Amino acid sequence: MFNSIKSKLFLWFLVVFSILFLGLGIFLYYKLEDIAVGSIDNHLHAETQLLASLLDVEENRIEWELEKAQVGDYTVPFSGHYYQIALSNQVIIAKSPSLANESLPLPLEKTARILTIKGPKGEPLRLMNYPVRFPTRTIIIQAADSLADTYSLLRSFKTIILIILPVTFIISSIGVIMITSLSLRTLSGFSNRVSRITEKNLNERIEEKGVDKELLPLAASFNNMMTRIEDAFIKQRQFLSDASHELRTPTSVIKSYCDVTLKKERNKNEYEEALNVIRDASERMALLIQKILDISRLETKDILLKKEVIDIGAILNNVYKLMLPIAEENNIEILLNNGKKVDVSGDRERLTELFINLIDNAIKYNKKGGKVIISSEMENGFIIITISDTGIGISDEHLDKIFDRFYRVDKSRGEVSGAGLGLSIVKAIIDAHNGKIEVKSRTGEGSEFKIMLPINLT
Ligand code: ADP
Repeated sequence: MFNSIKSKLFLWFLVVFSILFLGLGIFLYYKLEDIAVGSIDNHLHAETQLLASLLDVEENRIEWELEKAQVGDYTVPFSGHYYQIALSNQVIIAKSPSLANESLPLPLEKTARILTIKGPKGEPLRLMNYPVRFPTRTIIIQAADSLADTYSLLRSFKTIILIILPVTFIISSIGVIMITSLSLRTLSGFSNRVSRITEKNLNERIEEKGVDKELLPLAASFNNMMTRIEDAFIKQRQFLSDASHELRTPTSVIKSYCDVTLKKERNKNEYEEALNVIRDASERMALLIQKILDISRLETKDILLKKEVIDIGAILNNVYKLMLPIAEENNIEILLNNGKKVDVSGDRERLTELFINLIDNAIKYNKKGGKVIISSEMENGFIIITISDTGIGISDEHLDKIFDRFYRVDKSRGEVSGAGLGLSIVKAIIDAHNGKIEVKSRTGEGSEFKIMLPINLT
């Protein structure tokens, strides 16, 4: 039953309200009783003092001027205001006319005391018993006031409290329910929006204007999440269309060669030539598919890196030797500065692939007679490998996109082979090693790729 925020809030409100209101009501009731009875007690005290002052006791003689006290309500029969004076042997020697033939119910005590008793007509009475000690005897004075008015005041107060309590409770409950419903309406609005989102309307966002302050972070996080999902979706779609596009070229080469070759009888050389072209095209396709698989496995972390302690210096030396003939073939000078031993924890094969890709690019996109410089240094627990070239460079507008899959700065640069997947693989390998890559470039002057790998041997 209490599995909704609204009902939990309501329950909390009910408990707090009941405790507060009941506590306050009981406190006020007893406080009021205290004040009302206290004021009666004060009056009784003053009355007994007055009566005592009117008494004159000498030896066996008792005189009084009680007519001074027989005024007002004390003269009206059963008015609720009474007094009586008794000797210590319980013999009543005087009483107020308001008592008529009755007398105040004893006890007449020799100690001063104030107590609540039943009066001559059965009504509640507050009675003060006040012994006055004279040298020869003790006289007991009793004054009493009816509590009927006080009790009726307290009853009215109780009734008011009992009416106000549920009315205030109902009004406040309605307020609580309305405020929670209004606040939660935004949340159900969110949930409606979210449930309407499909891959066709990923651009839907929650309007942040007018949303309650507490719900703003939720709306903002949701919108951010949607932006990321939308980006990922667009990239995925782009990837699919790029991949199909790249695969279409070798497929159509294969198909057209098959069609042309099969049109008529061919000699051995012609068949050989056609089969060579078809083999090249299918090799290109196989390579492309391998690269695509590599990227997606690295990105989804499907491929577990074969991590071991490896010497980056040795890897750089090997790659340098491997790339030297290709550089020479292209008339590029390649230099390796500081190929010293630095142990890191990583996947030998993947890191070799990473450096081959970057150096291959530095040669491919270089100018005749250009240079490629590979250097490494240590900094704050990282090994930083820099591969710089004096090539054609990359303009700023392309710089943040070159790591995207299938992205090539200039697709019409037909003479440079590539599918635009090399740097995506580089990025995926670096990410899998918790490293970072930065690139700086100037068109016409060259580029510099900086790879930072943590030297973490665990
Ligand atoms: P590709 O197969 O086209 O080389 P990459 O992912 O390796 O794909 O590189 C993406 C693009 O970035 C390249 O097409 C090229 O335009 C640009 N690029 C990469 N490295 C360099 C470089 N060292 N100098 C200039 N441009 C580069």
